Amino acid sequence: LFSGPIAFLKSAPSLQFLPEPEVEEIAFAGRSNVGKSSLLNKLTNRRDLARTSNTPGRTQELNFFDVGQPLRFRLVDMPGYGFAKAPKEVARKWRFLVNDYLRGRQVLKRALVLVDSRHGLKDIDREVMKMLDDAAVSYHLVLTKADKVKASELQEVEKRTAEEARKHPAAHPEIVTTSSETGLGIDRLRRAVVEAIG
Ligand code: GDP
Repeated sequence: LFSGPIAFLKSAPSLQFLPEPEVEEIAFAGRSNVGKSSLLNKLTNRRDLARTSNTPGRTQELNFFDVGQPLRFRLVDMPGYGFAKAPKEVARKWRFLVNDYLRGRQVLKRALVLVDSRHGLKDIDREVMKMLDDAAVSYHLVLTKADKVKASELQEVEKRTAEEARKHPAAHPEIVTTSSETGLGIDRLRRAVVEAIG
């Protein structure tokens, strides 16, 4: 599925710039610096499909990538959230953009919410989970940078994250643990995408 062509389609800074809902979409969300770009690149076997950029201004857009030729589905790189220094206005815009997209997008089949293994779920992640629950978009919680923590800590964060997932109606009960560094969990993540688009 990911061995075929993958191409950047467009960035949408607001809803009027969304591409036509021609095919199903899988969206990636997470706090800035969670490792989202690295994971997208690893998942698609591309070195710089998603740019590892942390400029707050540049990240307030939804980035769409076409997968397959003929077109099979789209990957959507959602703007990173939770910048420590983000002005209120940026956070507000982010909330509107993401909420509108999640609620109105029938072709959106699943979201992957990335969580840093070292930090676990933060309140801002819970807020995003709530947005997904409310929009009835099913999602997987994905732990990133697993290579950065000890096995015992990883087990602990997996357990805690799974406990929280159970309280969220749209969250998948299974936590996917990944590392873009070692490749851990990447095949499982690919399967989660395949399962979602059928
Ligand atoms: P984004 O802001 O969510 O797109 O995060 P990036 O993909 O740019 O990653 C943020 C930082 O974490 C970069 O310095 C990456 O090299 C590093 N990083 C990302 N994924 C991993 C991983 O799986 N393991 C390790 N050790 N570092 C990672």
